[in-house]
Amino acid sequence: MVKNVYIHIPFCKSKCNYCSFISYPCISLKEKYLDALEKEILHYYRYEKLDTLYFGGGTPSLLTIDEFKRIIAHFNITEETEITAELNPDGLTLEYLKSLKGLGINRISLGCQTFDNKILEIISRRHKAEDVINAVQNAKLAGFENINLDFIYGLPEQTEEIFEQDLKRAISLGVQHISLYGLKIDEGCYFYTHQPEHLPDGDVQADMYELAIKTLTSNGFEHYEISNFSISGCNSRHNLNYWNNNSYYGFGAAAHGYADGVRYSNKENLDDYINTPTEHASFHKISKQEELEEEIFLGFRRGDGIETKQINEKFSIDFDKKYNRILKKYLTTGHLIKTQNGYKFSDDGFLVSNVILSEFLE
Ligand code: SF4
Repeated sequence: MVKNVYIHIPFCKSKCNYCSFISYPCISLKEKYLDALEKEILHYYRYEKLDTLYFGGGTPSLLTIDEFKRIIAHFNITEETEITAELNPDGLTLEYLKSLKGLGINRISLGCQTFDNKILEIISRRHKAEDVINAVQNAKLAGFENINLDFIYGLPEQTEEIFEQDLKRAISLGVQHISLYGLKIDEGCYFYTHQPEHLPDGDVQADMYELAIKTLTSNGFEHYEISNFSISGCNSRHNLNYWNNNSYYGFGAAAHGYADGVRYSNKENLDDYINTPTEHASFHKISKQEELEEEIFLGFRRGDGIETKQINEKFSIDFDKKYNRILKKYLTTGHLIKTQNGYKFSDDGFLVSNVILSEFLE
């Protein structure tokens, strides 16, 4: 049974310089897009009671309240359903936030990236630090008790001091969740062809990551996933579902889903999606070996790591025996830690997790 839904809203007013996500400025297509989205939902969704519903983007806050309402109305949700909307801080009014709350949206995620206005300009964000502060204050007034701020570290001109100030400001704003992403300049973004000056190198990025762990965990945040921190009870249930390797629907252009043992992705091109919203762009039946590898990759992202008993039962293997060489090697170096139920990464392990995880691949 699929109990989690991701919905992609692929519109942005303009493109941030580091962004290679699928987003388009053609907001005039929004109405046609929502029609297509509804067709896709009606075609695949079997009216399961949802544990989580997530609006990601792009910029979901480009939807009007009526448009959110129209989409949410298709789903079987209860008061227990975690409903998240990613919002851009620019132009968020108290009235809009109150109306979102009134629709049952109970978690919001704001793209802050940094509180340094000069850097926000370099990366071409539309908002200023003050907009984020206002948005958080308004969200609290509107009754939100589960607010995430996204940050990026390793931005041009960013020093460890600036990043530390960013985190301290977020803590003082009283948000319940913080997500951190190291800057990656991928093909397709403006910075890929226009390399910015004063870019912190990989070592500085690693120092920033360690600094974040220290700063946030000493201020009551739990490091519950490689990139995510929360105060107790405010873990993202939607994202935990991904990391637990469970199924989910992905609706909308470029969305990815995992249902009935099949991973699929939707068409990225907006016109293609609008014309044929129920045709997937790719479709891959996961083999048992792939499922095991995904379980390991995703499980190790979690702060509490993997549970070997559960993996052994699910895949009929002896995890300790099968991966004895890798486990021994990284327990010795201190990158892995033995827990009561399995294994997890140490802070140093998280820093080189890609290298270590690649050794689990067959
Ligand atoms: S980073 Fe977010 S807001 Fe900026 S262009 Fe990309 S999807 Fe849009």
